[in-house]
Amino acid sequence: MKITDTHVHSNWSSDSTISMINATKEAPFKNVSCLAFTDHVDIGYPSSSSAILAVPLYLHQITLLQKTSSVCIMKGIEVGVTQNNIDETQRLLDRFAIDFIIASCHADDHVAFCEKNAFNTYKEKLIDVYLKQIFFIVSSLRSYHTLAHMDYITRYHPISNEEFLQYREHIDQIFHVLIERNKALEINTKGLNSNQNECLLLALVKRFGQLGGKWVTYGSDAHQANNIGRHYEKAKSILLKAGFSSFALPVKEDEWIYCEE
Ligand SMILES: [Zn+2]
Ligand SMILES: [Zn+2]
Repeated sequence: MKITDTHVHSNWSSDSTISMINATKEAPFKNVSCLAFTDHVDIGYPSSSSAILAVPLYLHQITLLQKTSSVCIMKGIEVGVTQNNIDETQRLLDRFAIDFIIASCHADDHVAFCEKNAFNTYKEKLIDVYLKQIFFIVSSLRSYHTLAHMDYITRYHPISNEEFLQYREHIDQIFHVLIERNKALEINTKGLNSNQNECLLLALVKRFGQLGGKWVTYGSDAHQANNIGRHYEKAKSILLKAGFSSFALPVKEDEWIYCEE
């Protein structure tokens, strides 16, 4: 089995400790033959642990590693987008040749969605605010390939699947944009040690397929070496149950191929 993991962090992200070289050494032990480093760019992140990447140096380091590594490496980036940072984020993306861009909703311009403060600020409106923020991101950011971890807030707040899936209209609106723009939806396996998360991801991916979505990417969201390629089997099973046959990989901004396995 050859796994393509399109969401891996290195110590270029402030919340990761893996060196790039160690990640590429670890990957074959997890059957990962291709990986994308997707370190964080969250301009103006509303928390002390802000993540901003020195992009030219970062890309240069990947170029050096591509020359020596036996693993196929993609130059990726994970952008956390908000109303305030979208123009600057897009300008940054325009300046560099990046193989794989993950669009993420980590925060709005007031709070980080992973913090307790998000729940205290928005209370029963949290899911509504969060999904509207995702809609803004997928419809306003010009350059990206996949939407990451749509289940993100459910990792940090006491939200049941029923509560989340009640926002069917919001979810469908997001999927319609992804489909219209030929973008992908990610199965992010960070939360997949819980059954609840597995059911939620299945419901979301299935709906994406029902509406005409074609492309689904696989991402472990590893921040430590031993998480590279994690829960791939579960992700594949969700993918198949949802009616898809293979994970996807971009060849250009809006052109895709299926991953070989
Ligand atoms: Zn993320
Ligand atoms: Zn990530």
